[in-house]
Amino acid sequence: MSDSPVLGIDLGTTNSVVSYVREDGEVRTLRGSDGSYLIPSVISFHPSGSVVVGADGRERRLLDSRNTVFSTKRLIGRPFDSPEVRRAKERFPFEMTRANNGGVLVQARGETYTLAELSAFVLREVRAVAEKELQVPCRRAVITVPANFNELQRSATKAAGRVAGLDVLRILNEPTAAALAYGYGEGNNERVVIFDLGGGTFDVTVLELANDVFEVLATAGDTYLGGDDFDSLIAEQMAEAFLAHHRYDPRGDAQAYERLRAAGEWAKCQLSHQKEVQLRIEELAYGDGGASLDLTFGMTRKGLEALAMPLLARAFDVCEEALSVAGLRPQELDNVILVGGSTRMPLVHRMVTEYFGKKPLTHVDPDIVVAQGAAIQGRILASARAKSAIGRVALRKITKVGGGIQESNVAQHRDLTGPLNIPPTSAAVVGGGAASALDDIFDDAPAVATLQKPSAQNPGLPPPPPPRAPTPPPPPPPPPAPAPAPVPDLPSLDDTFDPLAFDPAPEPPAPPPIEPARPPLLLDVTPLSLGVETVSGFCERIIARNSPIPTEQTRVFSTGMDDQSEVVIRICQGESRRLEENQELGAIELTDLRPAARGAVQIEVTFILDADGTLQVRAVDLKTGKRQQIRVQLVGATEEGDFDEMQARLEEKMGG
Ligand code: AMP
Repeated sequence: MSDSPVLGIDLGTTNSVVSYVREDGEVRTLRGSDGSYLIPSVISFHPSGSVVVGADGRERRLLDSRNTVFSTKRLIGRPFDSPEVRRAKERFPFEMTRANNGGVLVQARGETYTLAELSAFVLREVRAVAEKELQVPCRRAVITVPANFNELQRSATKAAGRVAGLDVLRILNEPTAAALAYGYGEGNNERVVIFDLGGGTFDVTVLELANDVFEVLATAGDTYLGGDDFDSLIAEQMAEAFLAHHRYDPRGDAQAYERLRAAGEWAKCQLSHQKEVQLRIEELAYGDGGASLDLTFGMTRKGLEALAMPLLARAFDVCEEALSVAGLRPQELDNVILVGGSTRMPLVHRMVTEYFGKKPLTHVDPDIVVAQGAAIQGRILASARAKSAIGRVALRKITKVGGGIQESNVAQHRDLTGPLNIPPTSAAVVGGGAASALDDIFDDAPAVATLQKPSAQNPGLPPPPPPRAPTPPPPPPPPPAPAPAPVPDLPSLDDTFDPLAFDPAPEPPAPPPIEPARPPLLLDVTPLSLGVETVSGFCERIIARNSPIPTEQTRVFSTGMDDQSEVVIRICQGESRRLEENQELGAIELTDLRPAARGAVQIEVTFILDADGTLQVRAVDLKTGKRQQIRVQLVGATEEGDFDEMQARLEEKMGG
């Protein structure tokens, strides 16, 4: 099994994508049952007891919204009482309850599921797609997560992989993966911003690429900003139009509203390459005597942009935040990489260009760029030489000495070697500025659709997007680009930006793979500070935000009472001094302490954030030098004993 391909999996909020690196070094992205790269992260619990995942699951969202679960990535690793979960409960039609460990459970058809288990259903589907196409068992993967995922979210993602039968070689930050897919890591010295606007979330990350080190200078995000919000805005307009026309508000009917949202998404996507859409939704409701009430609705791109602009402006507030942490101005970035389906909107492209003063890189399809980077990282990790040489890691060790903190850069350079081939689509673009296919393919004729009422045979979804223009082969490598001059007066890009040009031709011709001298070293940082509770609800920071990982930090804890046998240390992540304003991760329990007078037992606790950003804890009794018994209990964590049960249920429901 060890030479089976390592899957690079972008486990997305809306869609997931899977790539792998072929023997000859070419990076391939695999297509799901509907022929698309995008495997919807939607899980529908069928009345038969089985589970339908992916494109088929998404269709059931309209038919059976209460038993069709989506967007669980927004909730993973979050306490039930958190604002995000409260918000989700208001918005999502499926039922959520509190788990004993403080996490979230989802109820569907009388059964209860953890969020890790739900993600496992998606990962199992992704694995099935890969196994069907590659005709070999696929058991190893690199899975990506947003750079600002905390410890709980990373562990839950890892647990999901395990339940899906995957050996997760690495949890990789999405922006790092995107940069890898663009061929970074070849000794370029650049500061790159990754602008990732997907279906549900927005993330911006500033990466410093110095020689072959990838360092996250800053990352910030908005967990409720994405394409879904634009769909909702259009759905609201449609609902208002329907109300005005028929004096009936479709927002009171969950299924009718889902149909409006789906139609809104269709209209939005059409408006990325057309200036106007017209659509008709049949049987949205019934009037007197059972008469069908239909909606006829039209929208222009300008109309959509006016609606979307205030929401999109929020993305640039988030950019400000990230840049201020990085201490940079927008113009100081060398390149901008677009990730996520929503970056196909011409308005996004235009606003990004205006804000950063340069056109973003658009050569790699923003939907698959992250999975491709994950596949490249998987190939590096799987290579025989990487196995023997452990990996090159710059470790910053921060040790508390006396009352103060001493910081020493212990750059432990171990070699992360192994063959790496840069994907054919990406090799040409590092250094930036090369033009992508920006031909004007906009169609001035409005897109027109009639949407019928969904049924088991007809999900009532809008027609698929029009055929896509083939992407021209990648341009020749540009010379290293000097920082482009600021753009004073930007012309409207409406007629030059081609949102479909991201899509690769059916299979791009593969230029000879490029064998770099050395694969890139990945040096990520922790996006949130890690701390412990001190007295009366206050937090002491132990590992600061943006510390390069892996990193470790040591603290000494002692007993406060004679013969105290246990010490409980509450751990949290966040930037506030107050515990309650941070995310509580759980607790570390030091148990079976030796009997001694108050203060006589001193335990040195080492907090280690590993290369995945997950927490490990080690404790040593300073007097005896013995390892201290320790238990780490994390909110929402999957208990060791639950894995077998979850795996059995998953295999039963997904038909092995
Ligand atoms: P992701 O989470 O990256 O898979 O992105 C999914 C989001 O991208 C959804 O909200 C889609 O509606 C949106 N999207 C996909 N294609 C387009 C397009 N051509 N124009 C606008 N939004 C799009």
